[in-house]
Amino acid sequence: MVVAPCATNEKERLEALQRYGILDTAAEADFDAITTLLSAICETPIALVSLVDRDRQWFKSKVGLAAEETHRDLAFCAHAILQDEVMVVPDATRDPRFADNPLVLEDPRIRFYAGAPLITPDNFAIGTLCAIDVKPRELTPNQRMALKTLSRHVVDLLELRLRLQQTHDLNQALEKANAERSRFFANMNHEMRTPLSAILGFSRRLQKRVEKDVVPAYVHEGVNIILDSAQRLADMVDDVLDISKIDAGKMTLQRQPFDPVELLRGVVNTVSVVAEERGVNLLLQVPDQMPVSVTGDAKKIGQIVLNLLSNAVKFTPAGKHVRLDCEYHDQRLMLGVTDEGVGIAPQDIDRIFLPFEQISADTPEDTKGTGLGLAIVRSLVDLMDGSVDVTSQPGHGTRFTVVLPLLIA
Ligand code: ADP
Repeated sequence: MVVAPCATNEKERLEALQRYGILDTAAEADFDAITTLLSAICETPIALVSLVDRDRQWFKSKVGLAAEETHRDLAFCAHAILQDEVMVVPDATRDPRFADNPLVLEDPRIRFYAGAPLITPDNFAIGTLCAIDVKPRELTPNQRMALKTLSRHVVDLLELRLRLQQTHDLNQALEKANAERSRFFANMNHEMRTPLSAILGFSRRLQKRVEKDVVPAYVHEGVNIILDSAQRLADMVDDVLDISKIDAGKMTLQRQPFDPVELLRGVVNTVSVVAEERGVNLLLQVPDQMPVSVTGDAKKIGQIVLNLLSNAVKFTPAGKHVRLDCEYHDQRLMLGVTDEGVGIAPQDIDRIFLPFEQISADTPEDTKGTGLGLAIVRSLVDLMDGSVDVTSQPGHGTRFTVVLPLLIA
């Protein structure tokens, strides 16, 4: 008996085999279908998908054989993987390599063997697809072709299985990372909020005091700056938390009846303080026919409008106008925010909705946000099955249009 030598690249070959993670796994119908077909086409009682491991050959699929594996020294397949072409042994008793092989002398008493190497895309022969008979014979050209073709299918199946496994692993890793990130943000948010609330609370009280008391101008100014900065920091913390919630799929809608016009008035009131400071004229335009009550997540709709209006005011020079208009028909609420500001260049339009994207180089430092506002707007609108569009003329102004499906309550 001649024991097959190891390939010169044996170490890498074994690594290639390990990569598939297939050794000692359960039988799979896809592989069994191939051995069944091969045994039928070649008319042999035995057909195998054999993987040649360090010291053994292990059968991923077998027809007509009980053994799970055999020692590598006995394996016909260990010879077959040393050549690129199909290896045929018409009569093992007449082949010096196999004549005294226990698999020939005893059960299963192999006489005929035909094996095609399983060659991976990176050119390693990790095993064979083989047909075995207990009587001497030959392989017809068609049977040889079928054997070769099916062997390539085995490799395709292995590759497919590997890709699925990798995708699964990646998804699991991503899910884990996402969960960890959400936890981290939730914790961080909490940790940041406590000192922030203290700063906000105390500086508000201080602000009231310094308005009444006679204090030097720098104290007055200082308190205002602290209050503004703390407020912006609190807004950013909220934004980051929102985005991470959306990312983690944990943002849900709270639908309740609400008066849409009242909601818009409230947001305009909030933004009017900043608009006045900046000398921007803020208008709300409401048509005569508006429903008194619709059902939806008023808080999130308010957040969308607040983001768009704040941006509009932020990017519009003094003396110009910002207008919020609305319409309701066909069970849809349309909201429009139009400004006469700097506008957005056509090449930047697609980027503005991405997280952390800020376009305007000339944004004043004190109004700089996180670049998360529009990403949040888009995610919230998506969550409500709505749409958001933007048209802009650089130097003239921008209009954001949001359409949300909302039923009349
Ligand atoms: P932030 O306002 O925090 O920078 P946003 O996501 O709200 O982040 O906006 C992203 C970018 O889109 C802004 O930095 C700005 O460049 C641009 N942008 C948004 N709204 C307007 C607008 N009304 N006019 C001009 N540019 C705008």
